[in-house]
Amino acid sequence: MMLTLTGAKAQIANEEGTMVSRVIPVEDFDLVIFGSTGDLARRKIFPGLYRRFIAGQFPQGAQIIGAARTQQDTAAFRDEMRKAIVEFAGNPGKDAAKVEEFLQRLTYVSVDARGTTGWEELHEHMREGVVHAFYFSVAPALFGDIAQRLSQYGMADDDSRIVVEKPFGRDLVSARELNATLARHFREDQIYRIDHYLGKETVQNLMAVRFANILFEPLWNAQYVDHVQITVAETVGVAGRGEYYDQSGAIRDMVQNHMMQLLCLTAMEPPYHFDPNAVRDEKLKVIRALEPLEPDDIVRGQYLAGPDGPGYVEDVEHPDSRTESFVALKVRISNWRWQGTPFYLRTGKRLRARTSEIVITFKDPPHSIFDDDGVSPANQLVIKLQPNEGMHLTMMIKEPGPGGMRLVQVPLDMSFADALGANGTDMPDAYERLIMDVIRGNQTLFMRGDEVEAAWAWTDPIISGWEQSTRSPEPYDAGSSGPEEALRLLHRDDRRWREIRP
Ligand code: NAP
Repeated sequence: MMLTLTGAKAQIANEEGTMVSRVIPVEDFDLVIFGSTGDLARRKIFPGLYRRFIAGQFPQGAQIIGAARTQQDTAAFRDEMRKAIVEFAGNPGKDAAKVEEFLQRLTYVSVDARGTTGWEELHEHMREGVVHAFYFSVAPALFGDIAQRLSQYGMADDDSRIVVEKPFGRDLVSARELNATLARHFREDQIYRIDHYLGKETVQNLMAVRFANILFEPLWNAQYVDHVQITVAETVGVAGRGEYYDQSGAIRDMVQNHMMQLLCLTAMEPPYHFDPNAVRDEKLKVIRALEPLEPDDIVRGQYLAGPDGPGYVEDVEHPDSRTESFVALKVRISNWRWQGTPFYLRTGKRLRARTSEIVITFKDPPHSIFDDDGVSPANQLVIKLQPNEGMHLTMMIKEPGPGGMRLVQVPLDMSFADALGANGTDMPDAYERLIMDVIRGNQTLFMRGDEVEAAWAWTDPIISGWEQSTRSPEPYDAGSSGPEEALRLLHRDDRRWREIRP
């Protein structure tokens, strides 16, 4: 049984009853993608740009310049991008005429981030009087080189923007160094540190639900919220990127950035305005209010070999590795709003299902007037980020029928896929949305330098505490919900995790 918010749908639906998004074209732009022959560019950036193009968001002259070391001409690059769009842009990628039209916007320049090749040619392609944006889709070791050369070759003008990918440092010291390097050539308001979780429809909807409605905000505090769970579970292991992952682990790869952002948006105070610095000021206050973790608040795990594949240590080819492929944390926020309400975070590889969600569990009503046979009446707001973005609120209602006053818990559905029709395929992917925000000059959904540093300042002691200990990660079966100890982390507080399911 599922209740649906049909009233809400009507207000945002078109005549056919399908929710549509308004497309507002952006200013004319030249966008340079460094690392355009790489995996991220192929799978996400170019297919995403194509989808924005066919949505009508590109102005007439907008051009995209692919840049990487590979020597090739524009025709060869377009051939590669044609294949990438067909493979990764979803249904719109099947419209061959549109794909060709988009490809005409692409140029390729061979550029060496650490040499002199290509930089003058790149400069010649840049037009006067349009937005200049440079996406650094390359290894972080090259961020400083590219920033320095953009400046040296006269492309770091007053209005240009740079987009930097994760990871942004591997600890506080390296993040500070990277901030300082970029700051030599670009102002903070020109630097867009990307965290694609912030580009997800539901993450932004979390802010809309909290701050555009009166309904939840009065309850959004320790008096009414029992606890919060944030889960990012993957079914895949680390095969293929084992070398990188083993140097990083779940805390660096997921917690310091994505999960911290989700925690901040859930816990922050209402900003005075939906303005980049106002929102980021509030997120920063949350990070600064995080209590240091005790060893008992942290569970680390490593997946074991199973019928579907090798274990973690085999995947990374490092038999003695102590790097965690799973982590669960009990986090406390020391401020008025959240004193006494824990936030439980867990993330891991090779788990039972692929899912990312935030679950707000409200407290039980103070007194039950019903003989409810032990049915838990706690309301839960489930904010699902993937695979199917949406939200639902569990409510107690009367079980339909003449059989007396029996209660049943049902989800009140606010699923976007349903409202958007066709599994929500009209929804822009996080990357396409964020790149358009760069062109618009809107930094709200990007991390500010001080935010990233504060996140590392909180995470560093967790990592160094582990490095100094002699414990091994707890083993867990591939396809499970993680190690037993993670279940106990909640059991000891008389709570339990929501089941990991798609
Ligand atoms: P990748 O597949 O290894 O691609 C790296 C790109 O950098 C290639 O286009 C390569 O071009 C270019 N490159 C290397 N050295 C260069 C140089 N000296 N001058 C100019 N270009 C150079 O990496 P990726 O997976 O696309 O990742 C790119 C960035 O995104 C990284 O920071 C990564 O951490 C981040 N990221 C990636 C993903 C993902 O799903 N892939 C997800 C999140 C974040 P040539 O080979 O032609 O030299």
